[in-house]
Amino acid sequence: MTGWLAIAGLGPGAAQLVTPEVTAALAEATDLVGYAPYVARVPERPGLTRHRSDNREEIDRAGLALRLAAAGKRVVVVSSGDPGVFAMAAAVFEAVEAGDPAWRDLDIRVLPGISAMFAAAARIGAPLGHDFCAINLSDNLKPWELVERRLRLAAQADFVIALYNPLSSARPWQLGRAFELLREELPDSVPVVFARAVSDAAEAIEAVTLREAVAGRADMRTLVLIGSSRTRLIARAGGPPFVYTPRSAGVPS
Ligand code: SAH
Repeated sequence: MTGWLAIAGLGPGAAQLVTPEVTAALAEATDLVGYAPYVARVPERPGLTRHRSDNREEIDRAGLALRLAAAGKRVVVVSSGDPGVFAMAAAVFEAVEAGDPAWRDLDIRVLPGISAMFAAAARIGAPLGHDFCAINLSDNLKPWELVERRLRLAAQADFVIALYNPLSSARPWQLGRAFELLREELPDSVPVVFARAVSDAAEAIEAVTLREAVAGRADMRTLVLIGSSRTRLIARAGGPPFVYTPRSAGVPS
């Protein structure tokens, strides 16, 4: 049996948002590897062995997947959203670079998924219509000073900013601190979108201004989008507003 390793994105939650390519890889797999809540999203079936791990064990998990593929298994490592965005694909390549030289010749493929920022943006309008960036607010893998520097420079450059991992019970203060810093750099009126559990039954999306934004509206399943100075909010009587960022900036008309 020839082994392979696919690092697959399961999208934000809804089954319709899993790509056919990922579904096909899951159907052929012998082994499924990932953080337990993501593994739980894949239906059980005979012949599919499940390897669940804790959230913090990314490199160990990557090593396990590589050893299984080298032994001839057909392995799918699952991430939520896109596997290349703050997720397992980079961890696997880190393990490949540091590990057994034979791993470099394995059949390794990255199968893209719909990242939370794209799913969230689509629900509210088109906030990512102009230049944007994504910042992971967690300081598990980088110093908090670097997070603050990036936030400040991104705001000064007038990017729309997608904030992943906005807070957790272990670090409840970070999003509040981020809002404070962003208020120093951006007009109070820029739209801020809290997109929680996008595409799940528990989905909740709201748009406020930076002036009104409070960290308590977010949890670890929330994607927070900070508008640029050009991001617009279209109020609607019958429902939530549309939020969009025009396609052009600074172009003489
Ligand atoms: N690889 C994933 C991101 C992993 S980091 C992706 O591309 O989406 C985990 C963070 O993603 C969460 O803290 C949250 O900020 C965001 N996220 C993941 N799924 C989400 C969903 N369904 N709705 C809103 N945010 C989500």
